[in-house]
Amino acid sequence: MFVVHIASEMAPFIKVGGLADVIHGLSKKWIEKGEKTLVILPKYSFIPPLKSAQEEIFSSFFEGNWVKNKAVSITFEKIPILFIEPLENTLFSGESAYTQNDFAKFLYFCRACLDYLQQKNIPFDILHLHDWHTSFCSFLIKTLFSQNSLAKKKTILTIHNLLYQGIGPISFLKKLGASQKQTQKLASSPLFEKSLINLLQVGIQYADWITAVSPSYAQEIITAKKGCGLHTILRQRKRVLSGIVNGLDEDAWNPEKDLHVPFPFSYKNSPVEIDRQKRKNRSLLEKQLHLPERKGPLVIAVCRLVEQKGPELLAFAARYTLQNGGNFVLLGSHPGEKDTALFAPLIKKPGFHLHLIYDDGLARLSFAAADFIVIPSRFEPCGLTQLIAMRYAAIPIARKTGGLQDTLFDIDDTSISKEKKNGYLFENYEETELEATLKRAFNMWHKNPSQKTFLRKNGMQQKSGWEKSVEEYEKLYQKLLSLPEPSSSDICGSQKDSLP
Ligand code: ADP
Repeated sequence: MFVVHIASEMAPFIKVGGLADVIHGLSKKWIEKGEKTLVILPKYSFIPPLKSAQEEIFSSFFEGNWVKNKAVSITFEKIPILFIEPLENTLFSGESAYTQNDFAKFLYFCRACLDYLQQKNIPFDILHLHDWHTSFCSFLIKTLFSQNSLAKKKTILTIHNLLYQGIGPISFLKKLGASQKQTQKLASSPLFEKSLINLLQVGIQYADWITAVSPSYAQEIITAKKGCGLHTILRQRKRVLSGIVNGLDEDAWNPEKDLHVPFPFSYKNSPVEIDRQKRKNRSLLEKQLHLPERKGPLVIAVCRLVEQKGPELLAFAARYTLQNGGNFVLLGSHPGEKDTALFAPLIKKPGFHLHLIYDDGLARLSFAAADFIVIPSRFEPCGLTQLIAMRYAAIPIARKTGGLQDTLFDIDDTSISKEKKNGYLFENYEETELEATLKRAFNMWHKNPSQKTFLRKNGMQQKSGWEKSVEEYEKLYQKLLSLPEPSSSDICGSQKDSLP
């Protein structure tokens, strides 16, 4: 089966968060299964020239004209990847994937991807879209491209994070070639306010299937509390909504082979050996970051430093760790001003290190050095850092929400079987609950080495690879292919609305 992914990130070329890891891991495993794929990405201007690339020129429609793009093809780890680079505008320029003009940038990208697939007659079966940046393809394919064979292709939209939705002027759609009738129709939908359109919402309406990145998150997003304003529409599409938990690329995240881990280790080593190697990594990291040697555990957090990740509770965990004799390292990329300010009182304290930029190498060494990782998220669609941490023998202390709830099991929960237990969980976003959980974890660390070994072993041996999730996606793709044309009751807008 031939699956085309259209996405805004893919590791290692473009990475802001977990989306990048997922596009890489999922497409890699799909190829390893002997299936076909093509990943289409924007060629942002910060991406350096690509080795052994093949280039061709194609046109896409924008602002009433056909404009030229370069299609740059490479194969990376056997994954065919196509980068699209606009030649007649600067929409993809900037130092990061996400900039001020994202709405225009990703609409342009969506249209260009479909123009490419149509013009080159790519014989794919499923179009797999990811988040708001590419969700609009599901609308375009059934409207602008309705006269084309593309219109018959099944689309699946994966929601990696419902918070980000892509809102902008409906009038922009005319630039993509939408007719007056088409734009008016969307504008008159009671779902849209004034003249604004929400690209994720349209994607949810028009996709043939929707997945969230964990079963718990799929349940959460249909509630008013966690639905980010889209719960009603998601509820209407509940019949075609499911959750598939993300996997982890176990080659890319392997403490035995990781070039950033100077003292490697694996689950096959003895607990004593794992402990010895982790201590050496810790020593090196602490020297590198000018942290004092302390008797308590090393606690880390690795995240985008945004509201979702629970900055107040991260600061609380840092204070608790310092007060209880440990060191705390926070790698927080893309910080907001308010979130950074929370850590100002901690910066000069011995034992605390704040690193406010994305740093893959330092993150990897930190995972290998850490005793605990703390993840107190307000919500977490899936979360990858708990999975990475466990592979690197760092024990997670996390809030019981979304994908954290689907992948972590508390050591003291008597309803959980022994083999599954792998960390510490707390229920509510409250300092007192986090404090009690940190206390349990620190007590164990100081007084119960056999439990530490047990948790590390369970975490390192947990099956978090892509095998199971890819099987679930495959079943879903097959189901979609066998479905007749979707009935109008499944769709919140008419799909038969073709353009002239
Ligand atoms: P999200 O997708 O919400 O950002 P995830 O936990 O799903 O969160 O994935 C985050 C990914 O980004 C992980 O691979 C993590 O290691 C990486 N990451 C997050 N912040 C940083 C950082 N400051 N430096 C390096 N890597 C980071």
